[in-house]
Amino acid sequence: MFFLFGTGTKQKDMGRFLNIPCLFCNERHTMLLSKHYSYFHVFFIPIFRYNTTYYLSCSDCSAVYKLVSDKARQLSRDALTTIESHDMTVIKGGFAVCAHCGAQIQHDNVYCPQCGHKI
Ligand SMILES: [Zn+2]
Ligand SMILES: [Zn+2]
Repeated sequence: MFFLFGTGTKQKDMGRFLNIPCLFCNERHTMLLSKHYSYFHVFFIPIFRYNTTYYLSCSDCSAVYKLVSDKARQLSRDALTTIESHDMTVIKGGFAVCAHCGAQIQHDNVYCPQCGHKI
């Protein structure tokens, strides 16, 4: 008998949620919740999942946060769940970087406040 098995990872978007605090924007924003997980498969049929992690990404500054699983599950059931900044861990900082001078800028800036270069 020959068994073909292995592991893979998958990502699933769970929708956009309002009113999530963003450390970089300093206000509450809409964020995209996504679920990342690893799975074990036999003959390419997923048998079980493990290492499920939830991420939030700010639609305004593109910061990425890891969200505690309990809160993420609660949020996906009830969009009005209050998410506080202590439920989130920064994975990637927000804001864009000016290609000209490397200064941190906001995505809605048209000109870099540092060097005046058009973005
Ligand atoms: Zn943000
Ligand atoms: Zn610049």
